[in-house]
Amino acid sequence: MPEEIKVKIKEVIQRNYNVKSFRLEVPGPLNFKAGQFLLVKLQDDPGLKKYLSISSSPTEKCYLEFTKKLTESDFSKTLDNLGAGDEVSIQYPFGKFVLDEASLKIAFLSGGIGITPIRSICKYVVDKNLGCSIVLVYANRSVKDVVFKDDFDAMMKSYPALRVAHVLSEAQAGFICSVGRINAELIKNKIPDYQERKFYLCGPPQMVEAMRLLLAEELGVSLEMMVTENFQGY
Ligand SMILES: Cc1cc2nc3c(=O)[nH]c(=O)nc-3n(C[C@H](O)[C@H](O)[C@H](O)COP(=O)(O)OP(=O)(O)OC[C@H]3O[C@@H](n4cnc5c(N)ncnc54)[C@H](O)[C@@H]3O)c2cc1C
Repeated sequence: MPEEIKVKIKEVIQRNYNVKSFRLEVPGPLNFKAGQFLLVKLQDDPGLKKYLSISSSPTEKCYLEFTKKLTESDFSKTLDNLGAGDEVSIQYPFGKFVLDEASLKIAFLSGGIGITPIRSICKYVVDKNLGCSIVLVYANRSVKDVVFKDDFDAMMKSYPALRVAHVLSEAQAGFICSVGRINAELIKNKIPDYQERKFYLCGPPQMVEAMRLLLAEELGVSLEMMVTENFQGY
């Protein structure tokens, strides 16, 4: 089990109306793989703890970042009130939602806040210029729910082998996206070479299960070609 350490919040970044990133000052070298998660305990009540994906990449060496969708829960409200200089306890790293560097072609399917470990992996691939081809299909209810849009836009500019296809439940003027849900037709259209790609699925358990069934039963993708991360708690 990784040891528990107390760390200071360095910076808080508002990502959208209900999502914030928290950047932590972590002593010593960062010790994790892109896509892994940590356990965050809030100082004033050790009962307030959650598993959260690391949204930064190991190539971003000055901080460790997690990104939380803020709800009405006690954990969310307490976290929302923290700022630079406040302390939290963390344990890390956990998890197997990590890049298989042998795969030259990758596809990510994600929804909402499920983007956090994918942001970490994509940033790592781009910063290391690993050369693999990536397609991200990212579904949200509306444009206000999209997280890390600017980050992905910047990554696509510096790394042309990354493509992002946004999917929204409702159309939005001026926002390039498909309207509807992620289904077999959309995957064939956005990822024509889907049979050659390793799929990474991340989000609430119901969404991950629906995507897994879609890939396996409607598109014939084998289980060995899928890596999943379930955000238990949603
Ligand atoms: C491996 C892993 C990685 C994860 N990564 C992330 C991540 O990167 N980002 C992220 O945001 N989540 C992530 N999660 C999910 C996270 O751990 C939480 O389960 C999730 O964020 C829900 O937390 P919550 O603050 O809504 O609290 P919960 O207590 O789980 O609340 C659940 C719901 O109940 C409502 N509720 C709870 N208490 C009250 C109250 N007193 N009054 C009114 N309503 C209430 C909340 O509004 C919320 O809608 C991850 C989970 C796992 C397992």
